[in-house]
Amino acid sequence: MPSHPADFRSDTVTRPTPAMRAAMAAAEVGDDVYGEDPTVRRLEEAIAERLGHEAGLFVPSGTQGNQIAVGVFCRPGDEVLLDANSHPVHYEGGAVAALWGAQIHPLVSTRGIFTEAQVEAAVRREDDHAPRSRLLILENTHNRGGGTVWPLETFRRAVAVARAHGLSVHLDGARLWNAEAATGLSVRSWAELADSATVAFSKGLGAPVGSVLAGSRDFIRQARRLRKRLGGGMRQAGILAAGALHALEHHVARLTEDHRHARLLAEGLSALPGVEVDLARVETNMVYADFPCPAEQAVARLREASVLAHAVGPGTLRFVCHLDVGAADVQRAVEAAGRLVADVARPTPG
Ligand SMILES: *Cc1c(COP(=O)(O)O)cnc(C)c1O
Repeated sequence: MPSHPADFRSDTVTRPTPAMRAAMAAAEVGDDVYGEDPTVRRLEEAIAERLGHEAGLFVPSGTQGNQIAVGVFCRPGDEVLLDANSHPVHYEGGAVAALWGAQIHPLVSTRGIFTEAQVEAAVRREDDHAPRSRLLILENTHNRGGGTVWPLETFRRAVAVARAHGLSVHLDGARLWNAEAATGLSVRSWAELADSATVAFSKGLGAPVGSVLAGSRDFIRQARRLRKRLGGGMRQAGILAAGALHALEHHVARLTEDHRHARLLAEGLSALPGVEVDLARVETNMVYADFPCPAEQAVARLREASVLAHAVGPGTLRFVCHLDVGAADVQRAVEAAGRLVADVARPTPG
C-alpha cells in the first residue's frame, strides 16, 4: 500500500511545497487592516494588473470574495442571475439570501455555459411586481459543469446583454487560471469584461489560503468595508500572500500538466467496461465518471486502493487533478477502477 493516497477529491487538498513555505516564512509583513502589509499590497497590485482592473483585495476565501461582490452590487430584494449549478447556489451556505437579502435567479445551462438569449429572457423588465435584476455572475472554469471553459465570445455576449440592461457583472474565477492554461488566452481576456472578478490561490495554484477580488478603485473601497464587516480583515496576512505570490510565479505554467493528467485519467476510465466518461466535457483538470454501481460503493472500493474521489451523483464520481497527483497516481486510479468494475460485473456467488 502506498504511503500517501492518490487524492483526487479536489484541487484544494494540495500542501505548500518546501519552496512555498520558505517564501512564506521570509515574507515582509505589516498590519493589513491598516493597509501596511507590503506583501499583501504587492499581491493585490499584481493581480489587479493581471486581470485588467484598477485595484485588488486579498480575501481569505473565494466564497468571501463572491459574497463581497454581491454585497457591493445588491440591496435586499434585488435579483442575482447565475447558473443553477454555480458555486454560490450550491456551496456558499445560502449567503446571497442570508447576508444580503438578495434573491437568486438560477439559469439552467449546458455545463455552466448559458447564452445571451437566456440572459436577455431572464432580466426583469420595469414592473411593480418584479424584483430588480441587479447582478450577473459567471463562473469560469465551471466546477459542476465539469471544469468547463466559457468560450470568450459567448462570455462577451452574455456580459454585453447584462450591461445593456444596467446589471453589473461578477466573474467567479476561482479556476480562471485553468481557463488560461486550456486556451492560451490570458486570464485578463475574461476578467476585464466584468465589473469585478475573483481568482483563487488555494485551488490549482497550490497555496494554502486566499483569493483576490479585483475591480475599480471605488468598488474595492466598498469591498474593504464589507470584508471587515464579514471578519475578513487579516493582520500580518503577508505570510499568506507570499504563498499566493510564490504560486503565481511557479505554479501557473504547470497547470497544463494537470490537464494532461485529467485527459489520461478520462481516457483510462472511459476504456473500462461499464464506466462512462463524456470526453468532450474534460476540458481542464476535472473528470466526471459514471460507474456501474452506486457512487458510494465505488468511492469506498477506491479508498481501499488508496485512491480518493468524491461521489457527486447516484453513480457519478468526480476526480480533480492538481499539483500533488502525478501520472503514477492516475495509473493507480485507473487500475483500481478496473478491478472495481470487474468485481461489479461478476455475478455474486450463490
Ligand atoms: C472553490 C470555489 C470557490 C470558493 O471557494 P472557497 O473554498 O471559499 O475558497 C468559488 N467558486 C468556485 C467555482 C469554486 O470552485
